[in-house]
Amino acid sequence: MSADSFRRTKIIFTLGPATESEEMLEKLIRAGADIVRLNMAHAKHDWTRGVIRRIRAVSERVGRDVAIMMDIKGPEIRTGDLEAPIELRAGEIFDFTVRPGMDASESGGAEEVRSVGVNYQDLAKDIKVGDTVLVDNGLLRLEVLEKNDARIRCRVLIPGELKSRRHINLPGVKVNLPSFTEKDRADSTVGLEEGIDFLALSFVREAKDIALLRTFLEEKKSKVRIIAKIEDQSAIANLGEIVQACDGLMVARGDLGIECAFEELPLIQRRAVQACLAQGRPVIVATHMLESMIEQPVPTRAEITDVANAVFESADCVMLSGETTVGKYPLECVQMLDKIARRIEAAEEMGERAPAVFTGERMKVLHSAVVLANEIPRSKLITFTRHGFMAHGLAALRPVHATIFAFTPSPQLFRQLRLLRSVEPFLMPLAAVPDATIENAVALLRRAGRLAAGDKVVIATDILAQDRLVDSVQLRTIR
Ligand code: PEP
Repeated sequence: MSADSFRRTKIIFTLGPATESEEMLEKLIRAGADIVRLNMAHAKHDWTRGVIRRIRAVSERVGRDVAIMMDIKGPEIRTGDLEAPIELRAGEIFDFTVRPGMDASESGGAEEVRSVGVNYQDLAKDIKVGDTVLVDNGLLRLEVLEKNDARIRCRVLIPGELKSRRHINLPGVKVNLPSFTEKDRADSTVGLEEGIDFLALSFVREAKDIALLRTFLEEKKSKVRIIAKIEDQSAIANLGEIVQACDGLMVARGDLGIECAFEELPLIQRRAVQACLAQGRPVIVATHMLESMIEQPVPTRAEITDVANAVFESADCVMLSGETTVGKYPLECVQMLDKIARRIEAAEEMGERAPAVFTGERMKVLHSAVVLANEIPRSKLITFTRHGFMAHGLAALRPVHATIFAFTPSPQLFRQLRLLRSVEPFLMPLAAVPDATIENAVALLRRAGRLAAGDKVVIATDILAQDRLVDSVQLRTIR
């Protein structure tokens, strides 16, 4: 990689049948994917352990260690099993039964009413007459007419085929399901045992949901970072506290587009990205970025513009889902994101967004480093980080042109730094004497072709002053 070819926006892809082979993993990692996402809604534990080990083995062979994000499904309501799909007709009266074993007559006396079970017994308590029930990604729409303890009676507004175990969305309904379920706990335990780097928690509704997961991680003495997926109206209402509590946010546009009015989605994305920039949290824009490439080798013009928009907004990451789980062109999708991101990042119109003024002395020091780098054309930033603070701080300050070379001795933190916009992580032991660490880093960057004689670097690091470590900013010219 030449000194100028670094892509600032990071790429996440979701693993699935189309990409789980060693051969495809190698191609996608070589193409520049930064993080692999495992969607636990569709994963068994044996498969999960197998693919995590495969990702690690391929990364090692390729010499590019990617991060792994386990996406746990959180509170999810699904319809039950059906012997055969049911064709729902427009205007038909249809029941969702919440008490297993009750037949149609017990559930209201109308034997001709067809029904399906749901996996959440208290649904009838949470839902109101007049609410909307959306099934299978919003393909079927029903309106609640009446309810009792055993069932919810609805009218079909948008007809279609109902298959087994379909996802139910309830726009605007506050559901009292636990945010971190038994399945999430079991999945996360497998993930921690296998050494994942991020846990993405689905349907986060408030900061308390994140606190529960954090307690679980603390009990396990884990340094895995928490990505909060915002997917419904409660999350939007509580956006500020969620951004504050998480280690990163995912704008999960798939479910958001069902739970909220379509026309709200661009505004929600913009506000969520801005809320993250203001609080210095990494942010991922996810879902349907290159949806048409599931079937076609080239994206639509609208998709290209959507990806560019996320880059313009200064998101840390863009994410692929169906495109790389079941799509016909997963490699081309990663290459396409890479190409669009690089082009937009290099454009004159791409002024990085000036983030809020951060408080705290350490952030002020980092701010001065970024101001300096912004003023020196083609300069680079270098930092050293044991717990991630310095690298996160610099990335949060969105340097206008400088790549942030972040050195850490921790393999897990090294992988976690792949999430951050403009950060290029390096794994390297830190020497006892700070100046020796700087010398080692510069030598490594020169060997890697990332720095050359005459380059200016702004170094943000702690140095030993008398017997105390103090944060410092240095400007050096590479010799
Ligand atoms: C989404 O809804 O956009 C999303 C990323 O979540 P999932 O793929 O788990 O539905």
